[in-house]
Amino acid sequence: MKNYRVLIIGGGASGMLVATLLGKSMGSAVAILERNDRVGKKLLATGNGQGNIGNEAFSLDRYHGDKDMIASVFERVPQDKNLAYLQSLGILTSADERGRIYPLSRQASSVLEMLRKAYLSHGVEEIVNAEVSAVKRHKDGYLLRTKAGEFFAQNVIFATGGKSGNGFGTDGSAFELLRSLGHSVTALSPSLVALKADMTYLKNLKGVRMEAEISCTYGKKRIFERGDLLFSDSGVSGDSVFRLSARLPQKFPLECKIDFLPAISHESLASLLMTKAKTERFTALELLISVIHKQFAKNLLRMMGVAENVPATASFATKCAELIKNFPLNVTGTAGFGVAQVTKGGVPTKEVTENLESRFASGVYLCGELLDVDGDCGGYNLQWAFASATVVGRSIMQRI
Ligand SMILES: Cc1cc2nc3c(=O)[nH]c(=O)nc-3n(C[C@H](O)[C@H](O)[C@H](O)COP(=O)(O)OP(=O)(O)OC[C@H]3O[C@@H](n4cnc5c(N)ncnc54)[C@H](O)[C@@H]3O)c2cc1C
Repeated sequence: MKNYRVLIIGGGASGMLVATLLGKSMGSAVAILERNDRVGKKLLATGNGQGNIGNEAFSLDRYHGDKDMIASVFERVPQDKNLAYLQSLGILTSADERGRIYPLSRQASSVLEMLRKAYLSHGVEEIVNAEVSAVKRHKDGYLLRTKAGEFFAQNVIFATGGKSGNGFGTDGSAFELLRSLGHSVTALSPSLVALKADMTYLKNLKGVRMEAEISCTYGKKRIFERGDLLFSDSGVSGDSVFRLSARLPQKFPLECKIDFLPAISHESLASLLMTKAKTERFTALELLISVIHKQFAKNLLRMMGVAENVPATASFATKCAELIKNFPLNVTGTAGFGVAQVTKGGVPTKEVTENLESRFASGVYLCGELLDVDGDCGGYNLQWAFASATVVGRSIMQRI
């Protein structure tokens, strides 16, 4: 059985980054155990293959979970330091007009290749097809059982991700390993995910993308997000929906509203439509398509029970303004963990020290998405994965 100083479970974003740090001083005494046939499968899919690895508009408000722990990690690994480190590995970056940071190549694969080059060049071992199925405590460390054999290490890093995107190797099964060491796991739910909804009056819009505002009121709280909204046959997705999903209560069905023309106030739209109805002799359909997508206009007419070619009246114009600004969307659930980008929930941060070491198992460290921290859409989750991995890497180097 091979003996290591550090074994990293999971060759995802955080696992690979911590390998680059530890490799410098410990080289081949470090190995990554990855269940897939190669590391970094999910990283390759991030940012639609472009790898949105951070955001210039960094703020703690963009994160959900224990704010003290999140602040403590980012104080020690602020964005500029994180980017400087990535740059030192050959990952040069630029930001788009929304502050989203990408590799200059606009290819997530260059991030993966530079991370791999950094740790492989120091002799860190990459062991693939090695799903860890048990972690047993021993006097001087931990015995890890995998399909590729058994391995022993003094220190173990859990970088196994959450439950989202099971096609990338993250199905939540690794939480059982942490439970076996005494950890708990909070309720898990998919986040940054499409929403399923009653599409009766949003038919035939599959693939149509609009700038819209989607909102939801529960109790006294109104939450809303504005941006891209994309239709499918079974619901809605896009930037605005992903961001909203991170903040929704997980109770369905849920009544949401869509504002299809957020750039115009309700009053202005009503007055514009009324003036047009009075002065331009438009039919009902013509009045609507002067402001919104034709297929959506046809759906609205069906909803109101109005024929396409009847003359548009002032009261019709008022109803249209109301529906365009406050379209009711009955959300029946999320599209699920399989397609979600992130998992909300995880191992409670109170179960790790400030250095992200387990409070129940000495020499065991936790980083990345498996902790009960999730970020908004726009690069915040990879930034958390890298920053928390850096804290773990530094802690182990200090300890050893
Ligand atoms: C389609 C998609 C697009 C995304 N786009 C972005 C984006 O543009 N920007 C952004 O910030 N975030 C994005 N995210 C989220 C981001 O990818 C994750 O938050 C981040 O990768 C988490 O890093 P991690 O190291 O914690 O886990 P992961 O990167 O998920 O890696 C965990 C690894 O552990 C392995 N593993 C799990 N269990 C075991 C086991 N028992 N034994 C061995 N190996 C195991 C898995 O196979 C996996 O390789 C996206 C996610 C998805 C699914």
